[in-house]
Amino acid sequence: MADYDYDLFVIGAGSGGVRAARVAAMSGARVAVAEEYRVGGTCVIRGCVPKKFMVYASEFSHQFQTAEGYGWSPSEARFDWPTFLAAKDKEIARLSGIYVTNLQNAGAELAHERAHVVDAHTVELEKSGRRITAQRILIATGGRPWKPELPGVEHAITSEEAFHLETLPKSIVVAGGGFIALEFAGIFNGLGVQTTLVHRGPNVLRGFDDHVRAHIAEEMERRGIRVILGCQHESIEKTANGHVSHMADGSKLESDLVMFALGRAPYTAGLGLESVGVKLSENGAVVVDEYSRTNVPSIWAVGDVTDRINLTPVAIREGHAFADTEFNNKPTSFDHELVASAVFSQPPVGAVGMTEAEARHALGKVDIYLSRFRPMKYTFFGGGERCLIKLVVEAETQKVVGCHIVGPDAPEIIQMAAIAIKMGVTKPQWDQTCAVHPTLAEELVTMREKYLPQELGAAA
Ligand code: FAD
Repeated sequence: MADYDYDLFVIGAGSGGVRAARVAAMSGARVAVAEEYRVGGTCVIRGCVPKKFMVYASEFSHQFQTAEGYGWSPSEARFDWPTFLAAKDKEIARLSGIYVTNLQNAGAELAHERAHVVDAHTVELEKSGRRITAQRILIATGGRPWKPELPGVEHAITSEEAFHLETLPKSIVVAGGGFIALEFAGIFNGLGVQTTLVHRGPNVLRGFDDHVRAHIAEEMERRGIRVILGCQHESIEKTANGHVSHMADGSKLESDLVMFALGRAPYTAGLGLESVGVKLSENGAVVVDEYSRTNVPSIWAVGDVTDRINLTPVAIREGHAFADTEFNNKPTSFDHELVASAVFSQPPVGAVGMTEAEARHALGKVDIYLSRFRPMKYTFFGGGERCLIKLVVEAETQKVVGCHIVGPDAPEIIQMAAIAIKMGVTKPQWDQTCAVHPTLAEELVTMREKYLPQELGAAA
């Protein structure tokens, strides 16, 4: 057998790469990891974690309003962006440090520089110029925000810059209808920024259940976000006072700032994969099988760079499965079915399994249970906010195949619903579960009346 410098070389120290490197190193393998930016990757440095801190910070304004309904007079509340940013950056640095320590404790070596593949067993570190050989190479380079080519696009920020704005804008136009666009629209709105969300499709959150999509757009508007659908940017003009978004329908939107959250693309540019013969899809994603193997026998890929389900826990599980298969003699492939997800919009969304449309298409006859109601927290003072809970059940087997929630704590609730659905729970079993009262989640187990389908508006 050829003598390599390492048993495994991982490119990218994000969610997937770090997990794979740690598990492989703990098995006794000689492992090295290259990271061009900061250890922890998108999730820790410019994704899930800082985003959630921003959601927490921005939710207080709504909580203060609610508090008034309960008799409080919150003393004049004032938000200080620089104070928040400093605290957020300190916490992110702490978390990134933990990732570094965990890698080192597992015995993996870390190179703080960009790497690319030279041949099937060789990588090059770009700063030092060092060439390193490895028996296996794992590509875990994640994704990058995608921006369309249009005049003035350089004036639009993406989520990457949104985490480090020197000052909060007074107004912002957020373009996009996916989870990142909705989350940032909620964040800016909650922090007092006059927020407009524009999306080219007929409704936001493509891929989610149509009832959820209609409901969340309504609720975001109720919280003060202006939602413009069926409209997209043609150009962005920078002016003395801010920016003008020129829209395809001829309208103009003025704002301090424009943010594009129009999707993300796998980050494979400049990695040298084509020259080694690794197959890429049309959008640049590394094509892999269920064991995350590429078509080149010594190269694997996990996480967002493979564009399967682009979520942190998925990248982690793919990385773990790869390391178990290759280094722990435990062939494992991650099951991508029934992965629950959350949107930390305000109010938030939790979903697992099939949408109604998907179930009708795949299964034929389905029973739908749908409840829309005002949670007691808000009815108390006459607040108008409404929740939505929906169950999709296969008619023949009575298996629950989908659960969709919009409302306070939806992401927390969906995690538990996902366990039951993953286990194949039926509606009668679901209904045997006694309610926890008074909660919002009790509605999940008390829905007895089938919802009679009505024509929903067309959804993209
Ligand atoms: P990444 O975490 O992106 O890590 C890739 C790493 O590789 C990066 O550190 C990068 O610098 C490095 N790298 C790239 N190329 C090279 C190279 N050539 N040499 C050396 N290093 C390189 N997911 C959730 O589950 N929940 C959420 O709430 C959530 N919120 C999100 C919010 C935002 C704003 C964004 C952008 C994403 C969010 N995600 C969320 C998605 C989640 O962050 C990703 O799915 C996850 O980070 C993917 O992990 P990964 O290991 O594939 O890649």
